[in-house]
Amino acid sequence: MTVYAQPGQAESPVSFKSRYEHFIGGAWVAPVKGEYFEDVSPVNGKPFTEVARGTAEDIEAALDAAWAAAPTWNASTVTERAILLNKIADRMEENLETLAVAETWDNGKPVRECLAADIPLAIDHFRYFAGAIRAQEGRLSQLDEDTVAYHFHEPLGVVGQIIPWNFPILMGVWKLAPALAAGNCVVLKPAEQTPASILVLIELIQDLLPDGVVNVINGFGAEAGKPLAANPRIRKIAFTGETTTGRLIMQYASENIIPVTLELGGKSPNIFFDDVAAQKDDFYDKALEGFALFGLNQGEVCTCPSRALVQKGMYDEFVAAGLERVGKMVQGNPLDTATMVGAQASTDQLEKILSYLDIGKQEGAKVLTGGERLQLDGDLAEGYYVQPTIFEGTNSMRIFQEEIFGPVLSLTSFSDFDEAISIANDTLYGLGAGVWARTGNTAYRAGRAIQAGRVWVNNYHSYPAHAAFGGYKSSGIGRENHLMMLDHYQQTKNLLVSY
Ligand code: NAD
Repeated sequence: MTVYAQPGQAESPVSFKSRYEHFIGGAWVAPVKGEYFEDVSPVNGKPFTEVARGTAEDIEAALDAAWAAAPTWNASTVTERAILLNKIADRMEENLETLAVAETWDNGKPVRECLAADIPLAIDHFRYFAGAIRAQEGRLSQLDEDTVAYHFHEPLGVVGQIIPWNFPILMGVWKLAPALAAGNCVVLKPAEQTPASILVLIELIQDLLPDGVVNVINGFGAEAGKPLAANPRIRKIAFTGETTTGRLIMQYASENIIPVTLELGGKSPNIFFDDVAAQKDDFYDKALEGFALFGLNQGEVCTCPSRALVQKGMYDEFVAAGLERVGKMVQGNPLDTATMVGAQASTDQLEKILSYLDIGKQEGAKVLTGGERLQLDGDLAEGYYVQPTIFEGTNSMRIFQEEIFGPVLSLTSFSDFDEAISIANDTLYGLGAGVWARTGNTAYRAGRAIQAGRVWVNNYHSYPAHAAFGGYKSSGIGRENHLMMLDHYQQTKNLLVSY
């Protein structure tokens, strides 16, 4: 096991600058209004850098740069784009530790996750879309002897992208890779809670990027996000964040009649059928691991399996074994590769989770484990840590219906298949879900009956670039990842030709 040194210390792979500007037209540019905000590390609760505080004027400057670059980049060949994306992937791979530690310091997540999942997935995403754009083909239909319909893909031009704080680099890459592959220029706004790690990435790749193709404006939602999302000069807005913010984004976009991709909140059910406990084998063990995954990324995952539904026949033994598994989750210094649960990303998020711990207790849910803030010692005493918590209750409770976005599991039981599906679908959301069953028929039928864009069957929390991801109901519009993502960043041009 390794404990990484804190950024700034001699042995750390990361040294943040004391100040970050916007990235516009290939250069680091001070904000027009000259204001900056602090970026605080949730690991120790202390500010570690300051970042340009963007406004509408900065967004306009970024759009000027993006549109200046657009004629050349929009007309680039798919081979040129693929080469760029592969070079970015290579550069990220060479700097894996730097990016991982930067992400951990900015967000609070365990460095083992960044090293094994977040950054490798981001790298693979660039490689996937480098290949996908070269493999994409147009269409041709012959309408009659003399008439042919050709369908061409064209870039949209310049697009806006707004991302949240829970996977800053990965969410940024999920958006950048397909947009660039499709030939668009981008103006990206990171979340105000976690701007620094993505700026470290931009620093690492800036010499690869043609000027103006990628522009980053930092700042807050109302000051920098809205002027981007509501701007008539963008051809699309892609947004990941809360459902309430997603509604606003859609309203802004409607003014300009531009397409949206919305990746929003979730309250994902994780369903365990009785036959899981038929044998105490590897499958049983894997299911227990799946049960404990509500603590992954401190529960700050849109698809967090935050509601567990366990069938009554095995309920007592499975939940007891699940509790034991949760008790083994190592929580502590996120820079220690042994740590499995790190710090919540911000004080606001910490307060929100603590308020839900109170709500759960007040509405009569039983605390099976956790239920409190975790106080660490020494350097980490001011960090934002919460005990992984399991509440036992019923699906009508607020802790079952509202997105907590913390390491909090709401657990309930069910009698039969129909009741499981009814509880699973009794939610505003429809992003992710898990089904665990040995019987293929049960697993398949449940997977099809759950109203969610992604159902993991006998596994959970994998995000391969080639599997479509997105929400039903209030969890969003559109999909990310997969080949189909390219369509979201392209116009279809039809030429109807008579010969
Ligand atoms: P948020 O909506 O508060 O903020 C997300 C981003 O939107 C930030 O960059 C913020 O500055 C910006 N923003 C806020 N108000 C804005 C406005 N009026 N106009 C334009 N931009 C604005 O969400 P958050 O708290 O940062 O992220 C957590 C949420 O994200 C959770 O609900 C989670 O489920 C969701 N999420 C969804 C997915 C997915 O793929 N579906 C992935 C990750 C996170």
